[in-house]
Amino acid sequence: MKIGIIGAGLSGLVAGRVLAAAGHDVIVFEKSKGYGGRMATRRIDGDSAFRIDHGTPYMTGTSGGFRTFLGELEEQGLITHWSDRLSCYTDGQILPELPGRDPQPMYVAPDGMNSIGKYLGRRLDIYFEEKVGGITHIGGSRTAKSPWMINSASINVFEADAVIIATPAIQAYGLVSTAQDEFDLRKMITVLDDISYSSTISMMAGYGERIPAEWKAILCDHPVISWICNEASKRDFSGDMNLVVHTTDKFAREMAETEDTVRMESKILKELGNILGSWAARPEWLQSHFWRYHLPKKSLDMPFLESEDDLAPIALVGDYFQGRSMEAAYLSGMKLGNHWAEKFS
Ligand SMILES: Cc1cc2nc3c(=O)[nH]c(=O)nc-3n(C[C@H](O)[C@H](O)[C@H](O)COP(=O)(O)OP(=O)(O)OC[C@H]3O[C@@H](n4cnc5c(N)ncnc54)[C@H](O)[C@@H]3O)c2cc1C
Repeated sequence: MKIGIIGAGLSGLVAGRVLAAAGHDVIVFEKSKGYGGRMATRRIDGDSAFRIDHGTPYMTGTSGGFRTFLGELEEQGLITHWSDRLSCYTDGQILPELPGRDPQPMYVAPDGMNSIGKYLGRRLDIYFEEKVGGITHIGGSRTAKSPWMINSASINVFEADAVIIATPAIQAYGLVSTAQDEFDLRKMITVLDDISYSSTISMMAGYGERIPAEWKAILCDHPVISWICNEASKRDFSGDMNLVVHTTDKFAREMAETEDTVRMESKILKELGNILGSWAARPEWLQSHFWRYHLPKKSLDMPFLESEDDLAPIALVGDYFQGRSMEAAYLSGMKLGNHWAEKFS
């Protein structure tokens, strides 16, 4: 079966890997330049180029299935144990650990979180910078004539026997809505309509010198800053202090409306200085990224969503199924992959 997957984030790549291994012909369409979606890493060029994770900062697993995957990544040398505890900022002070939180092994990717996407997608055919604008149900069936057309800017039209939409729910809503009315996708649209996302701004700040810190990351109880990560604790790039700061959803939304980057960054820096000390408000370089879709605010109580028409299969996977996390995205892609591998063998 020729399967078109929209989105090269964790859920799409995992589903693609399982289905390609089962012998299906898998093609992935990704609107950005690289692998991984929100498992994102930015390369900072300068005297010595280095990488910074401005999306998901680390991985942790609660279910057996995801832990097995973490074991595979560790064996491949892609992730390494980072910490069991997070520091926290509350009532104006930094505490060495979050009260009431049990120790939990957390893993980071020394080559950047997007190296995990590269690993998962290494045997898949992926079209990068290929934004899918819509999908069309053209009749036929997967056993006779391909029932789906995937429409993108440069390829124009790609015919597929089955489609997997592996994007955040709001983008999936837009794509499903483009399918022709004759095909009943109303149930999917109704279910998707219920999912909204928090936003965040990732601000990356480099200080050009080594600044000792007793913490690796700080979870903040603060109106502007929710998270501060010491990237130097993840990988060795001459030991210079580089921070990634995530803002609260409320602050990110307020700033998205003003679109004033300078004002936004100076507000975050001021608060960062208040939390860490005045040095933190004076970085040598600064970059920011606005994440419209950070984490889903609620999740659906099912591992994935598929149409009932087995002759024109279409399914949705992602982090909004049974979780609201990376782990949920992984399990969703894995479960759909296994389900379709068996159903369409
Ligand atoms: C700053 C930040 C911090 C986070 N922290 C954590 C954390 O601590 N713990 C945790 O569990 N999770 C965290 N997450 C969330 C985690 O990264 C996601 O849950 C997970 O990576 C989602 O994977 P996914 O495959 O569902 O979606 P995505 O990673 O969003 O992948 C979807 C892909 O689809 C592509 N796409 C969208 N529309 C189209 C289109 N029309 N055509 C082609 N391609 C398209 C996108 O470019 C993207 O690559 C964080 C996310 C961010 C941004």
